[in-house]
Amino acid sequence: MSTPVIYMDNNATTRVAPEVLDAMLPFFSELYGNPSSMHSFGGQVGKDMREARENLAALLGCGTDEIVFTSCGTEADNTAIRSALAAQPEKRHIVTTRVEHPAVLSLCKFLERSQGYRVTYLGVDSEGRLDMKELEESLTDDTAIVSIMWANNETGVIFPIPEIAKLVKSRGIFMHTDAVQAVGKVPISLKDLDVDMLALSGHKLHAPKGIGALYVRRKLPYRPFLIGGHQEHGRRAGTENTTGIIALGAAAKAATAHIPLENTVVRALRDKLESALLAAVPDSRLNGHKEERLPNTSNISFKYVEGEAILLLLDQLGIAASSGSACTSGSLEPSHVLRAMGVPFTFAHGSIRFSLSRYTTEADVDYVIKNVPPIIETLRKISPYKRGAADPLDPKPACGC
Ligand code: PLP
Repeated sequence: MSTPVIYMDNNATTRVAPEVLDAMLPFFSELYGNPSSMHSFGGQVGKDMREARENLAALLGCGTDEIVFTSCGTEADNTAIRSALAAQPEKRHIVTTRVEHPAVLSLCKFLERSQGYRVTYLGVDSEGRLDMKELEESLTDDTAIVSIMWANNETGVIFPIPEIAKLVKSRGIFMHTDAVQAVGKVPISLKDLDVDMLALSGHKLHAPKGIGALYVRRKLPYRPFLIGGHQEHGRRAGTENTTGIIALGAAAKAATAHIPLENTVVRALRDKLESALLAAVPDSRLNGHKEERLPNTSNISFKYVEGEAILLLLDQLGIAASSGSACTSGSLEPSHVLRAMGVPFTFAHGSIRFSLSRYTTEADVDYVIKNVPPIIETLRKISPYKRGAADPLDPKPACGC
């Protein structure tokens, strides 16, 4: 398969930054020692890992002892929630949202169905925002943990985590946030927040796949599920992924330097793309709040067309983006995030997520602006849903489940 020329799928994964690759390469060759070894050959790797941990702690505004390296964001999310439940076995209630990533949502469904936990799934409004009153009313003496994402992977909508964490902590409840999409894109200072645990993933911020981290607030009761070695001060057993950790440290250092550009350069490119497409394509709409959103993400629905068809035609032109629906076993099911927002069925089906990065150029944006409108026009000519005709799918409730 040829490499896409125009990469606008950075919320799915990012390219490894050149400085990150340079930093990690020696750890595949000459620096292969085990950081736990007594000899200085391994000790050197341990020293470099400490520096990587410092870089990540600087990005997050936390202590180095509050970071536990994991294999990915999913592991960090699962560990946080399971740890909170294991630390408070008498509590049987979890609060989360309907728009979480499956890393959280599938675990909650599993705990509900197989382990008898009660889970409250908070809804969102049409712009993807939470109702703070609903959150407040959901908290009980039985609530073990609140797990709410910092930023949504599909729409980029940002939840007010500082405010949410303050409320949750005032009730003595553990607070976890899945910040996989937020870290490196928006400033985070954990020392000023009431967050107990925060999950992140290397491959979303220009480190490779296979490395993530969980922030665990100092002195928080912590019950990891891996039993074995003493690594990470007994908090994550197994010989460390040294190359991944070095890479994540280098990526964190680069992200600390680049964060101001996310909100200026990347945001300006995203806004240019978004406003041009919304203006050029009739019956298109933005999914998600216009302001309370990651600066790199734009989720746009094009009515009367299928997202998958758009993606195929974009792909032929070398444009990599992502659609808001997943085609499963012959039936097209719109994304659970857009369904939770009440996006009408025929809009939800034609949603495309463009997610930019610091490597996106103005020429990339111009190329997409030029090519998307004719693609939509072509597809609409062959769409069974004609503009202006009664829509057989609206107002059918999303997916019926
Ligand atoms: N949480 C969110 C919001 C994500 O977007 C993702 C990945 O897409 C994950 C968790 C899972 O991260 P990982 O791929 O590192 O397991």
